[in-house]
Amino acid sequence: MKAVVLGGGLSGLMAASVLSNNGFETILLEKDEILGGLASSYLIDGKYIPKTYHHVMCGDSTTLNTIYGLGLGSNLYWRKLKVGFYSQGKSYDFSSPLSILKFKPLSLWGRIKFGLLVFKARRKMSWQELEGVSVEDYCKAAAGEEAYKLINYIVQAKFAEPSDNVSAAWLMSRFGHESKSVSDRFGYLKGGVETIVDGLTKRCTKKGGAVKTGAKVTRIILKAGEVNKVEYMEKGKTQEIRTDTVVSTLPMPMLLKVVDGLPQEYRKSLENIEYKSSLCAAIALSERVSPFYWLNIMDLDEYPFVGIFEHGHLNTELKYPSLMFVVKYLNSTDEFWQKSDRKIVEEYLSHLSDVFDCDVGEKLLWWRLHRAEYSTPLFIPDYGKYMPEAKSPVKGLYIGGISRTYPRDRYMGTALQTGMEAAQIVLLNHGIT
Ligand SMILES: Cc1cc2nc3c(=O)[nH]c(=O)nc-3n(C[C@H](O)[C@H](O)[C@H](O)COP(=O)(O)OP(=O)(O)OC[C@H]3O[C@@H](n4cnc5c(N)ncnc54)[C@H](O)[C@@H]3O)c2cc1C
Repeated sequence: MKAVVLGGGLSGLMAASVLSNNGFETILLEKDEILGGLASSYLIDGKYIPKTYHHVMCGDSTTLNTIYGLGLGSNLYWRKLKVGFYSQGKSYDFSSPLSILKFKPLSLWGRIKFGLLVFKARRKMSWQELEGVSVEDYCKAAAGEEAYKLINYIVQAKFAEPSDNVSAAWLMSRFGHESKSVSDRFGYLKGGVETIVDGLTKRCTKKGGAVKTGAKVTRIILKAGEVNKVEYMEKGKTQEIRTDTVVSTLPMPMLLKVVDGLPQEYRKSLENIEYKSSLCAAIALSERVSPFYWLNIMDLDEYPFVGIFEHGHLNTELKYPSLMFVVKYLNSTDEFWQKSDRKIVEEYLSHLSDVFDCDVGEKLLWWRLHRAEYSTPLFIPDYGKYMPEAKSPVKGLYIGGISRTYPRDRYMGTALQTGMEAAQIVLLNHGIT
């Protein structure tokens, strides 16, 4: 039994580790030179630093199970951290029910209604019942116009998209899940998310699985409607692997690019899955300037970013007083995306100086910019109609990755789970239980 797993992010690594531990000859192909995908890390001054913040949410049981399953439990620690919103020159704490009640940018009634909506969201794991309903329609009716102002901001910040084109099922699932960390605590691993990537890779290779980096998949070839071969480029040469089983965790537009012969209706349905991009700068400073771990920027028209994460409050292994992650979600067709890395970081720095009322550029030690073209699927109100099943209609083709997390948000746990689910269905189809 041979399986080829496409993509070396968390989902692909999980799928490959499950398959290789269940008797499959497993080959994972990753186009980049390093593993981890959206959860990959920089190696700077001998330490792995996540390319984007990557905290563990306290309700993320799949990531926690993975951490303990890999024997990394003793590396995990928790912190109660400050979360805030910045609006019109002022920062507001948002870390506890009491601070939410004092949140000035909303009227008292708006704050109460917002709090009640979050409380409601927490009572359920899945909000599938809201399939087809937009954030705008649901939240205006359930929480009123005033609370909707804040909700609309949260949606715009995450998707750069109007709330009438985003799913209420996604929003409520996210509120339910994320708000637990905001009011309770955030987790982090000594050694960062790289330890999970490394642990999964070792679990896969220990049983003979091959994990290839710098191996870009160029074609999945079907024969008589069934998976037959995978072609990939490695060191400028085309290579091929014969296989009847492929688990793809590639972003959907990438998968559609490399596979010919999908049933037309299936292809058309998958073409509805759009992605948003993100630009996340890691900026090390000689001094910490933010009292918040996570500061949301509400003035979206005035600032070129939507969130600032001060890792100094979370990451105990930093060699620098401050490491800020500054993030923006956008379309990769936007003018801002076309700017050079340096220009983007310069704009970030000058606006950070404005937020923190000091010359942030003067404290700069180093910076990196991470561009993720396929950062998150855009979860439109009827996304469920287009979301692929783990088992595709093509014999031998299975799907994992962040196109399959809905209605839950895409975070480490949901990505890992999609990889696990796809692998388990492969096993079931081969009579392995
Ligand atoms: C800015 C940002 C911050 C985040 N912060 C957090 C956080 O704090 N906590 C949390 O839990 N989650 C966080 N996440 C989410 C988390 O990173 C993702 O949910 C998870 O890493 C997705 O894994 P994946 O394997 O499904 O997708 P990906 O990581 O996208 O993996 C897909 C892989 O396929 C590869 N690929 C693409 N095309 C080809 C090809 N042709 N051939 C071979 N390989 C190919 C890509 O290079 C990539 O490695 C964050 C994400 C972002 C973008």
